[in-house]
Amino acid sequence: MRSGDHYLASLDDGRAVFLDGERVGDVTKHPAFAEPIRRVAHTWDLARAPEAQSATTYVDPATGRRHSTMWLVPRSAEDLGARRRAHRLWAEPSYGLMGRTPDHVACVLSAFAGWRQLFDRGGTRFGDNVVRFYERARDEDLYVAYGIVPLQIDRSQPAHRQPAPFLYPGVAAERDGGIVVRGAQGITTSAVLADWLFISYITPLVPGDEDYALSFVTPVNAPGLRVYPRRPYAQGTTSVFDYPLSSRFDEVDATIVFDDVFVPWEQVFVYRSVDLVNAQFHESPSHTLANFQSLVRFTVKLEFMAGLALKLLEVHAASSKPEAQASLGGDIAALCATFDALVQAAERNPLILQGVARPHPQYVYAGMSLQRRLIVDMLRAIRELAGGAFQQLPSSEASFSSPETRADLEKFMRGATASARERVKLLKLVWDFVGTEFGGRQLQYEMFYSAAQPIVNTRMFRSYDWQRAKATVDRCLGEY
Ligand SMILES: Cc1cc2nc3c(=O)[nH]c(=O)nc-3n(C[C@H](O)[C@H](O)[C@H](O)COP(=O)(O)OP(=O)(O)OC[C@H]3O[C@@H](n4cnc5c(N)ncnc54)[C@H](O)[C@@H]3O)c2cc1C
Repeated sequence: MRSGDHYLASLDDGRAVFLDGERVGDVTKHPAFAEPIRRVAHTWDLARAPEAQSATTYVDPATGRRHSTMWLVPRSAEDLGARRRAHRLWAEPSYGLMGRTPDHVACVLSAFAGWRQLFDRGGTRFGDNVVRFYERARDEDLYVAYGIVPLQIDRSQPAHRQPAPFLYPGVAAERDGGIVVRGAQGITTSAVLADWLFISYITPLVPGDEDYALSFVTPVNAPGLRVYPRRPYAQGTTSVFDYPLSSRFDEVDATIVFDDVFVPWEQVFVYRSVDLVNAQFHESPSHTLANFQSLVRFTVKLEFMAGLALKLLEVHAASSKPEAQASLGGDIAALCATFDALVQAAERNPLILQGVARPHPQYVYAGMSLQRRLIVDMLRAIRELAGGAFQQLPSSEASFSSPETRADLEKFMRGATASARERVKLLKLVWDFVGTEFGGRQLQYEMFYSAAQPIVNTRMFRSYDWQRAKATVDRCLGEY
């Protein structure tokens, strides 16, 4: 398995990342990206530690070789359980705050490899490309990010009727050995941190969109590919103490521009097929597997949130009050336990189609549908518990080292069960979660990481067993 040092070295590859109008050199040394990259490197090291390998690796029965579990094509509930443990390993170092760790798109590529027959419909060479790239990514433990939702521009029109050609990524030309891609793709989280990108569309394409009907992979450093991150949150933070999350766990969303990027045929999975682009995520187990990762990650985040809430009450000695316990029990513990049960249900009741196990869609989509509501409820509950605590904090950690201010802080900022420094440390952590720009992005991520609520709800509608529900009513009606 890949080491952290290997990962760090591989990112200094000449990639074109532009921040504030200027090209960034080595991203691993830039203050905006260095710390989140270091966290990912650290997780590679955790995953390859000998004591972790029974959870983080599996032996491929076909080759007898050991690979990261994130690349396991699941055949059973046990395999899904192994994947869950691997997802937890990747989620825990960031407390579930980094969603697009390497194990996310590994779900998509593993699902594609297990369902190559879909890509074969465009010609077996495309199925071959999928499997070959999957094997390479698995063997080299590649970090792949993806952009599969186009920029918003004009949502009332399909790709080929946007205000200008190639606002969305499409094929501008065919050359010997490959295609030329032009356009831009919307949010591609972790592009700065990743080795490769997978680019396609999960938003439905329509007849006429053939120039855009592509699925392909490309290295981040491909000539002509430009990465435009949104404002990174690590930049400008005063210290880890003041911004413990913003400064360490920003996975950095980015827009990707393709300025005539050459993509060799071997990296193309779908070419000019509206049907196959539309089918790839849902006909294959890709959507359920990738979102299973998101749900597992979210359980880690829920545990973190529950812990924040409890510690918030404890620091002011309020945790034994009946109203506080009711809030912790009803608003927080019940939500966390319900969500955990959904993830377990998805894993233990897999839908096994053509030998590949998918976490049960009914529970995956129930989790996704609830997730965006839970996060709002949880954040509101934490804010309720905090009252005005955040707004009473010193402006920065420096106040504790100044001889002029230290005594006041130590006297007045204390809690019932904690020293001033301990209490301020905790409250700044909670505020970074609920109130800073990083915290706001976390909320937006849980609301939109997959799709807008109506789209998720429609998936849920299709996954629920309505026939059984209707039969119950028919039985009742038939009784009289
Ligand atoms: C923090 C973050 C990280 C993300 N990371 C990734 C990533 O790594 N890779 C990736 O591919 N995507 C990523 N996404 C993108 C995500 O997939 C999209 O944002 C999501 O699918 C929603 O699409 P959208 O942003 O275009 O919003 P829209 O679909 O445009 O939705 C915005 C609002 O408009 C409404 N709306 C949309 N269309 C219509 C219409 N025709 N009529 C009326 N109302 C409409 C929706 O209901 C919603 O309320 C990320 C998103 C966020 C917020």
